[in-house]
Amino acid sequence: MIKNISIIGAGTMGNGIAHVFAQSGFTVNLIDVNPTQLHRALATIEKNLDRQIAKAAITEADKKATIANITMLSDIHEGIKAADLVIEAASENIELKTDIFKHMDMAAPAGCILATNTSSISITKIASITKRPGHVIGMHFMNPVPVMKLVEVINGYETKKEVTDTIVELSKQLGKLPCVVNDYPGFIANRILMPMINEAIYSLYEGVANVEAIDTVMKLGMAHPMGPLQLADFIGLDICLSIMHVLHDGFGNPKYAPCPLLVNMVQAGKLGVKTGEGFYLFTAGSKELVVSERFGK
Ligand code: NAD
Repeated sequence: MIKNISIIGAGTMGNGIAHVFAQSGFTVNLIDVNPTQLHRALATIEKNLDRQIAKAAITEADKKATIANITMLSDIHEGIKAADLVIEAASENIELKTDIFKHMDMAAPAGCILATNTSSISITKIASITKRPGHVIGMHFMNPVPVMKLVEVINGYETKKEVTDTIVELSKQLGKLPCVVNDYPGFIANRILMPMINEAIYSLYEGVANVEAIDTVMKLGMAHPMGPLQLADFIGLDICLSIMHVLHDGFGNPKYAPCPLLVNMVQAGKLGVKTGEGFYLFTAGSKELVVSERFGK
């Protein structure tokens, strides 16, 4: 039975994953090499729990119990030695993840499931560097984790059925809705989402319509909560580009070629919300949606 969860990486996703497991009564070790990230993660979890209290979704006592279930650590080996499940949620970098998985394989108990929250890196490739490929699986949470219902569960080539069943059950225990998919580039979420975003950028690049028109058509016409260009700014244009590269390299099909405008914007450091400018301008504290001057009206 899964009881002890270790999460490697306490960034945007790691703190959200820790939040939902701890809130569901699991014992959580949250591990990061950067102590500042651990402090930030705790502050974010507390802030998000306060939001749930303000909505009367949980009580002060629930918040205390959730926080009490989380231990922050910086040593991977120490943090995973008693884990039933380790979820890697470190930065999206294949060398880094491969290195972390080697340590996970070395230090985690036999029978422990090793999962990754990767958005695009092959589960099969990550599994192949371990001695337990049958126990490696993708557990792709969506951002923000405490709010988004979906968990995309990704079977690597050798993932054992009982491992998939355990992760599906566990996702349900968190109040999430798991969907099982196979390990091909982009899985399902990003294979479908990213070409749509890339096509929106192509439409802007080719002058078919301006930023506002493209986003409004998709928002009002397709009932999407936000337009694809605004979503790209939220995800980060560097991430969008790297996922397009994964699709392009993985399938070898020119339909996945990243739009040259996306490439240029990433090279110019205009990555969206995290740098203050992408298709829109972002000012801390302001929720107003302002199109970047470069794209005019
Ligand atoms: P992030 O940059 O916010 O956090 C990554 C964390 O990993 C940082 O705190 C960093 O200090 C830590 N880290 C780096 N090397 C480490 C190591 N060796 N040991 C321990 N910790 C280490 O990234 P994120 O947005 O949380 O993304 C994490 C993973 O989740 C990525 O694989 C990403 O593709 C995936 N993902 C992200 C989103 C999203 O919207 N941000 C959505 C779904 C999946």
